[in-house]
Amino acid sequence: MTSTPDDLPAGSGADPGWPQLHPTTQSAYNHILWNGGLSKSEVAKKLGLSRTRMTAIARDLEAAGLIAEGGREQRASTGRPADMLLARTGLFHFLGVHVRAGELVAAGIDLANKVVWERRQHVDELGPSVIGAQCRAWLAEAKADGLRVAALAVCGSVERIDAAAEGVGLHAVVPEAARSQWESEFGIPVWAEDDVVALTAFEQWPRLAEGQDSMALISLGREIGFGLVADRKIILGAHRRAGRFSHVLVAADGARCPLEHRGCLWAESSTTSIVHDVVGARTLGDVIDRATAGEQTARARLARAARGIGVAAGHILNLLDPDKVILTGDSPSILDSRTEDFDEGMRTVYTAPDSPVIEVTVFDFLEWARAAAGLALYRRLAEYDH
Ligand SMILES: [Zn+2]
Repeated sequence: MTSTPDDLPAGSGADPGWPQLHPTTQSAYNHILWNGGLSKSEVAKKLGLSRTRMTAIARDLEAAGLIAEGGREQRASTGRPADMLLARTGLFHFLGVHVRAGELVAAGIDLANKVVWERRQHVDELGPSVIGAQCRAWLAEAKADGLRVAALAVCGSVERIDAAAEGVGLHAVVPEAARSQWESEFGIPVWAEDDVVALTAFEQWPRLAEGQDSMALISLGREIGFGLVADRKIILGAHRRAGRFSHVLVAADGARCPLEHRGCLWAESSTTSIVHDVVGARTLGDVIDRATAGEQTARARLARAARGIGVAAGHILNLLDPDKVILTGDSPSILDSRTEDFDEGMRTVYTAPDSPVIEVTVFDFLEWARAAAGLALYRRLAEYDH
């Protein structure tokens, strides 16, 4: 095979980034992409466009090389065959870099959100010059491998990079000045965001096709992070501090946290606090093993943690009324066989009669880089302001 629909347009020359599109044209493209192809009339219907306007948009997208004719298909929406528009998903790529203490992990995805490229690099120390040099090298390598990278996202915990010293968060190793310098040097949008924001984008992006406009994600671990999506936008906050919710009160007479709160979410449900409270336990796994073996204190401690997460989820449901709440990080092991405790906690504050959609997902830490790449894709296509 010498040619595929995803070959770059002839004479594409120097490596242009993602083309500048009118917001409506971008939106039309996104719908075609999310749905794995749509007919013109289906796109027009979704966006409320006239036939003339839609014809012009399809022409623009074809001229930009972003879509291809996909042949005629019987469509359930009209009961008639229609010419399909397909997104050329191999045309551009998005790079995510996850910053960990001692290691940088990269993932490149295509427009279909599929990982097509991965790298890991041990680093002795973290800092803007080390991370910048590695991103530069990876972008060159990705290009040599035939990828056309349209955006880059560098992610890590803003609170504290995994295993790094106290106080070393993402913005300490990727300050705003470095991020903006890379953006102009690399010629593509560059974002530096918290892990949880990346994970939120990763979970939300594929759901946009189904019309999921809002979502809340709770990532439980040593720290507790919240990712929020409303009206299709990831909420970052006026000072990029949205989602700081881990010290909300969840138990009237619970454990005490380092900030002297009694019964806050962190004190009740963070893994740090759970492990601390069970004498002799060193990891969350120890506590879970002991609970499974029938040890009452470990069981009671995990039940309290599950209830605490439930209360926090209830508050979020009341506040945002999202399509869905996703619980991840260490949530699956804490909530395993303790969903009744979770529900009990949630119901102390959430009083709507219907059951909310709560999803518990296992997320491998190796997938963080992929989440970062997902953030670059989401931001570039669904949120980018020209
Ligand atoms: Zn607290």
